[in-house]
Amino acid sequence: MSKRLVILGSTGSIGTQALDVARTQGYTVTALAAHSNAALLEEQIREFRPRAAALFDEAAARDLRIRVADLDVEILSGMDGLCALAQRDDADVVLNSVVGMVGLLPTLSALKAGHDVALANKETLVAGGELVMRTARENGVRILPVDSEHSAIFQCLQATAGGAWAPPMSSANMGLSRVILTASGGPFFGKTKDELRTVTLAQALKHPNWSMGQKITVDSATMMNKGLELIEAKWLFDVSEENIDIVVHRESVIHSLIEFDDNSVLAQLGVPDMRVPIQYALTWPARATSTVPKLDLAAFAKLTFFEPDDEAFPAVSFCRQALRQGGAYPAAVNAANEEANAGFRADKIGFLQIAEAVEAVLSRRLPPVDRVEDILAVDEDCRRVVREWMR
Ligand code: NDP
Ligand code: MG
Repeated sequence: MSKRLVILGSTGSIGTQALDVARTQGYTVTALAAHSNAALLEEQIREFRPRAAALFDEAAARDLRIRVADLDVEILSGMDGLCALAQRDDADVVLNSVVGMVGLLPTLSALKAGHDVALANKETLVAGGELVMRTARENGVRILPVDSEHSAIFQCLQATAGGAWAPPMSSANMGLSRVILTASGGPFFGKTKDELRTVTLAQALKHPNWSMGQKITVDSATMMNKGLELIEAKWLFDVSEENIDIVVHRESVIHSLIEFDDNSVLAQLGVPDMRVPIQYALTWPARATSTVPKLDLAAFAKLTFFEPDDEAFPAVSFCRQALRQGGAYPAAVNAANEEANAGFRADKIGFLQIAEAVEAVLSRRLPPVDRVEDILAVDEDCRRVVREWMR
C-alpha cells in the first residue's frame, strides 16, 4: 500500500535511509524537516516534492524559502513548524528521526493528531516514556520502533502475538519473561578504564559496524546508548528493569532476543543495515522486499558474545539506577548525557567525564513529572547544571 510520510530529521543518517526506503517502496512524502541543512533539504524537496518542509533554525528556513521559491512548497520554521508538520492530516505515519529531546513535542503532536509514529528518536522515550506511551494509548495510535534492537523485539513479539501487534498494546499474557538487548560494544570494547582516559573524538567516531550520526556514535562508545535503549525497551514493551539484560555481541547480526516463561528464546537476525528496521516500521504489519543484502551466516563463521564491562563503561548501570529511582530521573540522565556528549565532541571534557556527568544528576533532588512542561523543566535544569560543570 502506498503510504504518506512525514519525516522529521530527514537530512540525518536515519532520515536519508528512510528516504531510500520511501524511494524503493514508492511512498509519498508529504513533509520533511531538519535543523539547518538547507542545501540537502532543498535537494530532497526537489526529488520528493513534499507539500511542506521546515527547518528549526529561522535563518536557514529563510535561506530555504529563497532556494525553493520556484516550487509549490510551504516552508515553516522553529518548534511550531515541526509540530505543524507532525499534525498534518495528509499523512499516514510520522517518522521522527531528529536527534535529542527536541523531538518530544513533535512526537506528542503527531500522536494527538491521531498518527502512528515510527520512532527513531530514542531520547524522547527515555525522558518522557510514560507520557508518550499514555498519549499513544489515549489516542488509539501506535509507536512503531525504528531502533534496531527494539525493532527486533517488536518483530519477535509481533510473531508471537499474531494479528497486528504493536506498542502501546500490552505484552502481558504473552509469556514474556526477559528481554535481551545486544550491544556491539562500540570502538572501545576491551579497553580498561585507564585506557579510556585519553581516547579522542576521532577514535570514538570509528564505530565497528554502523555508520550513524555523531551523537549516537559517541553514545555507543560510552555504552550510554545501551542504557538509553534499556529505558526505551522498558516503555515500549512494558518490561521491568531487572528483566532486561544486555549482552555484547560484536558482529551485530542478532539484533536482540526475547525469552519466554519456558526459557525458549526468539531472536531477530540480519545484516547490520538500518533500512531493515526503518522499512519494517513503515510496512508493518506487512513485509515488503528490500534492497538490503541477505544474511550469509557461513560468511561470519562464528558469532561471539560477552558480558558487558560495567567497570569501564558504567553508563548502563546509571541508566538502570535512573529507572529504579523512577519519575524524573530518566529525563535527568538523558539531559546530562546530551550536554556531556556535546561537551566531549566540542573538546570541553574528556571521554570518562560523560558518564561522570550522568552519574552526578542521579543525586539531585528532582520534582515529580507528569505533564510535558515538567519534563522539559527537569531537562533544562539538568542541562544547565552540566553546562556550568563543564565551563
Ligand atoms: P543525525 O545526527 O545523523 O541526524 C539528526 C537529524 O535531526 C538531522 O536531520 C538534523 O538536521 C535533525 N535535527 C537535529 N536537531 C533538530 C532540530 N532542533 N529540529 C529539527 N531537526 C533537527 O542523527 P541520526 O540519524 O544518527 O539519529 C537520529 C535519531 O535516531 C537519534 O535519536 C538516534 O539515537 C536514533 N537512532 C539512530 C540510529 C542510526 O543508525 N543512525 C540507530 C538507532 C537510533 P540537520 O541535518 O539540519 O542538522
Ligand atoms: Mg540501537
